Amino acid sequence: MENLYDVIIIGAGPAGLSAGLYASRAKLNTLIIEKGIDGGQIVGTDSVDNYPGAPENTTGPSLVARMVEQAKEFGAKKVMEEVTEVDLKSQPKIIKTNQNEYQAKSVIIASGASHRFIGAPGEEEFSGRGISYCATCDGPFAEGLHVYVIGGGDAAVEESLFLTKYASKVTIIHRRDEFKAAKSIVEKAKENEKIDFMFNSQVVEIKGDKFIESFIVKDTISGEEREIGLDEGQKRHSIFVFIGYIPNTGLFTDQIDIVNGYIMTNEQCETSIPGVYAVGDVRVKNVRQVVTATGDGATAAVTAEKFIETNDL
Ligand SMILES: Cc1cc2nc3c(=O)[nH]c(=O)nc-3n(C[C@H](O)[C@H](O)[C@H](O)COP(=O)(O)OP(=O)(O)OC[C@H]3O[C@@H](n4cnc5c(N)ncnc54)[C@H](O)[C@@H]3O)c2cc1C
Repeated sequence: MENLYDVIIIGAGPAGLSAGLYASRAKLNTLIIEKGIDGGQIVGTDSVDNYPGAPENTTGPSLVARMVEQAKEFGAKKVMEEVTEVDLKSQPKIIKTNQNEYQAKSVIIASGASHRFIGAPGEEEFSGRGISYCATCDGPFAEGLHVYVIGGGDAAVEESLFLTKYASKVTIIHRRDEFKAAKSIVEKAKENEKIDFMFNSQVVEIKGDKFIESFIVKDTISGEEREIGLDEGQKRHSIFVFIGYIPNTGLFTDQIDIVNGYIMTNEQCETSIPGVYAVGDVRVKNVRQVVTATGDGATAAVTAEKFIETNDL
């Protein structure tokens, strides 16, 4: 059968690419399906931390480029399509995309997570026209501007520090009175003269014509609202949003065990369905980083190989 693979991997983030490397190296007929840009979330950072062996100046895109090369080197096939429907209980398993239908002896779910939206009127309208979710991608467009960052976790504070490379000033808007981010990162931000803070504040509306001209901030304690206009000489606002992530598990909810949106697995990354594995940020785990995602990818690919052998598929 032309479209039958030993392993189909959904998602080409670090977890999926690592699974692709291990599966193809084991001579399994491997297909990686990615709906967007290769590399997943890590592509959006300018500095990859905590990945053993990666020098300090490693960027997300450069790390991903090497991962893609490695996966392809051993024969993994990659297509840019979106998985839209799955039947994981049948054998072979059926994977439908926006363009094709595939069959697989085993499936590795590596669909990761997507950023959260603030949900304010105007957010969708100005997405890509002043609202960004990726500092590495859009930081250069904020050159010389007073930039606003929404969020209070590691990503918000780290990316604010990065944005000071371009922005004349960075204001972090956070709905609580203290950050969730690690103390060391918060200290760095406090020491940075370009960064200031707007606590107990929530952006509730974004306004403008072609670009963002103002936005409304609500005081989360008093409920009072005020409009933030443009600084003198500035023609548009630039807002970056880093308020967390949601697991991409919508396609699988009625088929496999899911807890709080994340896929349940055991140590071998096996899900509740034989021959179906979940790896990386999409599964229940404590540490969501590149190093744990790639580790999962390796584990699942090796386990899938055994599953195919044992069941004589
Ligand atoms: C700004 C930022 C900075 C970070 N910095 C670091 C860091 O310095 N060090 C570190 O270790 N970690 C860092 N992380 C965390 C790290 O990026 C993640 O833990 C890691 O990317 C998880 O990999 P993954 O492969 O599980 O998922 P993801 O990276 O989320 O990749 C999932 C992929 O699946 C694809 N996909 C989803 N649904 C479908 C579908 N239906 N069809 C086809 N494809 C689909 C997506 O498009 C995506 O490419 C950072 C994250 C962010 C957002």
